[in-house]
Amino acid sequence: MAERICETLQKKLSDRLGFYEDLGIRLFYRDRGTVAALKSEPRLELPAKPRFSTLDLQKDETLPKPAGKPALQKAAPVVTPVSPKIVSLPVIAGPSLFEAVDKIADDTLLKIREDLGECTRCKLHRARHKIVFGDGNPKAELVFVGEGPGADEDAQGLPFVGRAGKLLTQMIEAMGLQRKDVYICNVVKCRPPENRQPEEDEVSTCSPFLFRQIDTIAPKVIVCLGAVAAKTLLQTNRGISQFRGEWLEFRGRKLLATYHPAYLLRNPPAKSEVWKDLQKVMAVLGLEVKKGKSA
Ligand code: URA
Repeated sequence: MAERICETLQKKLSDRLGFYEDLGIRLFYRDRGTVAALKSEPRLELPAKPRFSTLDLQKDETLPKPAGKPALQKAAPVVTPVSPKIVSLPVIAGPSLFEAVDKIADDTLLKIREDLGECTRCKLHRARHKIVFGDGNPKAELVFVGEGPGADEDAQGLPFVGRAGKLLTQMIEAMGLQRKDVYICNVVKCRPPENRQPEEDEVSTCSPFLFRQIDTIAPKVIVCLGAVAAKTLLQTNRGISQFRGEWLEFRGRKLLATYHPAYLLRNPPAKSEVWKDLQKVMAVLGLEVKKGKSA
């Protein structure tokens, strides 16, 4: 006779299934072979490439002034968008849980927010004040993904509103855009205590909501701000400086990783590198790069 599952385990299983339902996964199959293979697989490594091979660092540290009128909103491009050369990455064997299921039909940011609810799925909920879901144009062509909320974001419930956020706003405006033209969100939606990096279990619990946000918005370009966002979307352990500024892919969408604005506050000379990255993004989005504007 089949052994009965103890009540605690039963509760755990039902909580887990409830969690998958919240994420929109109602039907999935577990392929034990794939799971075992994934467990034994080393984490994805990007192909080695010469560091900063395409970069010619500049000395000037400041970002350019805002480029006049904002241009995005899926509006007619100012210049013809360029098609970037995308570096192909080795793929982890087997699909992730999310890739294994069909994309959620008719998903919306509202549904995702509702599914997230007053989340208590990971330990970050204990100290948070407000969930920072994301903000901006739900049909943006450009999505910025940061790491996780800081104190200001936690207090206001909005992403990138502190010092690093002000710098991000300047970067967006330097591209000729406004914050309302783009979408801004984070890997984790609750503030990690003392602004520590989010831990692996927190990232894996929260990132499916980010993936749904990206699928729903369907941007032309994703910009990862910093290593945590890049590592989460690219599933790599490589340091960001090894692939920063390269065109990569996330689920068929163009992705470019650049330094986090908080890093730029500590290390202003890196702004010129970030500005070069953003100019690449502008070219793909058909935004005019003003002649003579350098970082
Ligand atoms: N840093 C982040 O990564 N995200 C924010 O929202 C604010 C600061």
